[in-house]
This record gives sequence, structure tokens and C-alpha cells, in this order.
Amino acid sequence: MDSETLSHVAQIISESEYLIALTGAGISKESNVPTFRGEDGMWRNYNAMELATPSAFARNPELVWEWYSWRQGLIAECKPNRAHSTLAKWEERGILNYVITQNVDGLHRRAGSANVLEVHGDLWATKCTECSHHGRLDAPADGVPKCPECGSKLRPDVVWFGESLDRDVMMSVYAELERADVCLVIGTSALVQPAASFPLIVKQCGGKVLEFNVEETPLSRIVDVHLSGRAGETLPRIDSLL
Ligand SMILES: [Zn+2]
Repeated sequence: MDSETLSHVAQIISESEYLIALTGAGISKESNVPTFRGEDGMWRNYNAMELATPSAFARNPELVWEWYSWRQGLIAECKPNRAHSTLAKWEERGILNYVITQNVDGLHRRAGSANVLEVHGDLWATKCTECSHHGRLDAPADGVPKCPECGSKLRPDVVWFGESLDRDVMMSVYAELERADVCLVIGTSALVQPAASFPLIVKQCGGKVLEFNVEETPLSRIVDVHLSGRAGETLPRIDSLL
């Protein structure tokens, strides 16, 4: 990537009045978090997309929890990368206002970001299948965890296929998208709805969209700048210019 593009992007970021970042699987992939898409999409003999559903949980909660426990163990071994840490640093310095992420791995928070909206939930969060209890695990689940209040089964507090997104989270997401004058889109192919429409909302409200991705995406044609490469390399390079 040429230094002229980097300086141009650094200038847009430093002039921004309300900067947000939208992140997807690509930023986690640089920390070796499995994406469960494509060739990563299998666990034992199960298709990941068939385990992350309400009907799979109703049929076999033990199996679904075993899969989540395995994923929690993997993620506990992964570390936030320099893209996560640069975003956390920018929040601390008042450059970045919010991170909106499709990832459930919690790496933004572990890197130090506090203003994070997790569109698909959080792999460590739980909710009761019967009452309104919400909680968090601090170690991978051992069997099917039970609600401390009513004793019913807990489930992972993530959004499964066929489920709608959390209404309160989405209200906050749309408010951020409308407020932003610059949005960084990092490591997301912009194919999965509703996240695919997020950058378009920023554009419709007059904001700029800067895309960071290792490859071109359907979004690349409409963004203000496409930065090709690993975000763990490009973001620190931009940071050094701020
Ligand atoms: Zn309960």
C-alpha cells in the first residue's frame, strides 16, 4: 500500500468528528480465531451452521454446549492483535467513538475497548431459557450450565441462525451509524445482512467509509477508500501518522 493513501486516510481520521469502526471475522482471523465458514465450517462431523440454531439446542443442548465450550477454550488461547489494540488506543485518545462488531469472541474488550456493540452477542455471555436471568461464564462451560435463579438450562447469549438481533443493541447501532462522519469497515465481507447495510447507512447520512480488507468485497466499489492488506499492519501504520 502506498504512503500517499495512508497519509490521506490518516488525515480523514484526524479530521473526523465522530469516528466508528465496524469489524467482522477478518480482524479475528488475524488472531487465529476460526471463522466457521468455508473450510473452517465443520466441528467433528457437524456443520457449524446447523449447531448454532434454536432447534439444535432444543434437540440436544449437551451437544451445543459441548461445541460452545470447545470454542470458548480456543478463544481463551487467542490474543487480540495489533488491529484490536490500535482501535482500543484510539478510543482511549478520544479519536474513536465506538466499535460495532459482528464477532462474538470478545477480543475488542480484551484489547481494552469499552465502547463496543456486539451485534451477534458474546461467546461468554449466557441467558436463561425460562426466566430473564443474564450472566457470564469465566471458564469454558462444563456440561449444560443451570440458571442460578430458577434452575433451568442456560444457553449461550449469542444470536443463532433464524433468530432476530437484540432490539436494544440494534437501536444503539443505528444511532451510531447515523451519527458517524467516518466509518472504518475492517475485515468484513459486507455480505451478511443486516451488517451489509451498515456502511450504506453511513454513506446515506453523508459520512465517509474507509474499507480495510485483505481482498476486494462487494462494498469496495462504493467506499471512499479501500485499503488492501492485514488490518494488524495497516492500522498501526496509520496510527504512526496521527
Ligand atoms: Zn432462570
